[in-house]
Amino acid sequence: MEILKSPKKYQLFINGEWKDSISNQFIEVVNPANGNVVGQVASGNMVETKEAIDAACNSFLSWSKETPKARADILMRLYSLLLENEDHFASVITNEMGKPIVQARSEVQIAAEHFRWNAEEARRIYGKTIQSSEKQKRLSIIRQSVGPVAAITPWNFPLSMVARKLAPALAAGCTVILKPAEQTPISAIEFFKLAEKAGVPKGVINLVIGNPKEIGDVLLEDKRIRKITFTGSTEVGKLLYKKAANQVKRVSMELGGHAPIIVFEDCDLESTVNQVVRSKFNNTGQTCVCPNRIYVQESIKDKFINLFKEKVQSLKMGYGIDENIDVGPVVNKSGLDKVKKHVEDALQKGATLVVGGKVSDKDHHKNGYFYEPTVLDCVNDQMLIANQETFGPVAPIFSFEIEEEVVKKANNTDYGLAAYIFTENLSRSVRVSEALEYGMVGINDTVVSQVEGAFGGIKESGIGREGGPDCLDDFLEMKLITTIIRD
Ligand code: ADP
Repeated sequence: MEILKSPKKYQLFINGEWKDSISNQFIEVVNPANGNVVGQVASGNMVETKEAIDAACNSFLSWSKETPKARADILMRLYSLLLENEDHFASVITNEMGKPIVQARSEVQIAAEHFRWNAEEARRIYGKTIQSSEKQKRLSIIRQSVGPVAAITPWNFPLSMVARKLAPALAAGCTVILKPAEQTPISAIEFFKLAEKAGVPKGVINLVIGNPKEIGDVLLEDKRIRKITFTGSTEVGKLLYKKAANQVKRVSMELGGHAPIIVFEDCDLESTVNQVVRSKFNNTGQTCVCPNRIYVQESIKDKFINLFKEKVQSLKMGYGIDENIDVGPVVNKSGLDKVKKHVEDALQKGATLVVGGKVSDKDHHKNGYFYEPTVLDCVNDQMLIANQETFGPVAPIFSFEIEEEVVKKANNTDYGLAAYIFTENLSRSVRVSEALEYGMVGINDTVVSQVEGAFGGIKESGIGREGGPDCLDDFLEMKLITTIIRD
């Protein structure tokens, strides 16, 4: 297993060339498990962003006219290359953002699958012909690439988020300027090296890294960029949405979530607890679909908590490069501060601590951002944790008595990304899944993120879907062509 020791230098990738930044400034990427600097990345600005836009616009003319088969062939090469380099990418991910290596490997596989799925869908970009109400007229609808696209990605899945944006964009014939999160740009940089090997033509994908607002503003103000695809916080998403409105740019947004899990008394308790633990502590609780509110029916709450506590106590926390680690650090100090604040606020307002509840005091955790896997009981709606994303290893447990009451509570949020229910009662599972105001509902299942499914939220959790049978729609425009024919 490769372990990154001394900081490497990384460059930007624009118009098919690796480049130092004009400003000669660097961003330091820090391993959140031990504070080591794992890389120094060139920090670009508006000049490089403009160059990247020029490159994406020039290459759009040829890339959008390539056959879907030719585009799909390149995507399939990326699929294979990612899998061939799984261990390398997994260690990069673990070192730059802290997730355990087993989860990092799974992220690489998911990233690869996005390329395969979108390659397959590229060949199925269909149009329509429609019978006109006028005898002499013919109507058809064709679908064409939206245009050059700006993609902005977050740090919590530094590789698979890049894949989720680039794979459908490329499949649909769009060119791209990618701006990854400044905390975790190395996975994206390593991906661009593979893209060169896979034969992505010059200028079709470009990578700029640096001050997010400065780069974001240039991307949004340029009329030639026809679409923005973004994953990140609802706060930044709203900002970008407003700016995109000036030129009526197309937008796809995967924003925050505040997922409820509803555990009914008729569930299979053992399997439910296992799934809730896995989903809550996956990626150290730093996913937008992880459960933020665990509603347990009063009659089984004690049993649930006992079993839950036992499983949480058995989780191993540490530097994720070790195969046995279940929970890594949170990404940085502000992430850790937020977790502390949420737990302190809940305890002050009457929650009880079942397990955890503090920053790890283990000697080998002292240079990292480790917060003990935590379970809180008696959580209520007045607490911060009940309303905001914690993005950390904290499981807040609420109780409820009747179905109608819990559905109302679960829907009482501006978010609408993922929700989960656990029950063996078929009618209840249908009733409740239909009543939940969320883009995705898992029934006895917490893994809603599937490349074959349509991932995305409603309300303030976003617009558009990623993956699934309609994955290219957001990157294609419809064009109606009407023809009058003569006798
Ligand atoms: P998080 O809270 O998970 O870090 P953010 O929404 O802050 O989520 O960040 C997600 C992505 O959005 C990152 O790539 C970040 O650099 C970028 N970003 C943040 N602020 C802006 C902005 N004002 N304009 C453009 N991009 C931004």
